[in-house]
Amino acid sequence: MQAVDERLSDALHGTGHRVTSQRLVIHRELRERGRHATVEQVHAAVAERLPGVSLPTVYATLELLEELGLARRVHPGRGPVLFDPRTDAHAHAVCRVCGRVEDVEAPAALDAPVAAARRAGFAETRGEVVVTGLCADCAPRARA
Ligand SMILES: [Zn+2]
Ligand SMILES: [Zn+2]
Repeated sequence: MQAVDERLSDALHGTGHRVTSQRLVIHRELRERGRHATVEQVHAAVAERLPGVSLPTVYATLELLEELGLARRVHPGRGPVLFDPRTDAHAHAVCRVCGRVEDVEAPAALDAPVAAARRAGFAETRGEVVVTGLCADCAPRARA
């Protein structure tokens, strides 16, 4: 079994979830893609290997991967939610024109706002940094 599959199998077993080929294929797709993807993109990519798989099933599986710490959800502010195979701390830059999302390598001090949100009564808090702007392709066009 590939290491990728093993990682998911271990995580599923450890949390009392069943290992299904659907979960393995969707997880593998996100890993192989190696970058942020919408639920629709993942759905389209796995449709051939998983005939009849529904969009809600793909969504639920990606949410499960997030729960298991194997994916991260990114809220780009506009456009659909993305799932990120990178789970280490990093920020995102989102283009306001074309919606492109790029990883930004920068330390983000989120402990204080997350703690403040908890004090304000929020549960299951998590923070993310999203910087919006114009990407390298769109910026010159906006100036033209
Ligand atoms: Zn752009
Ligand atoms: Zn990312």
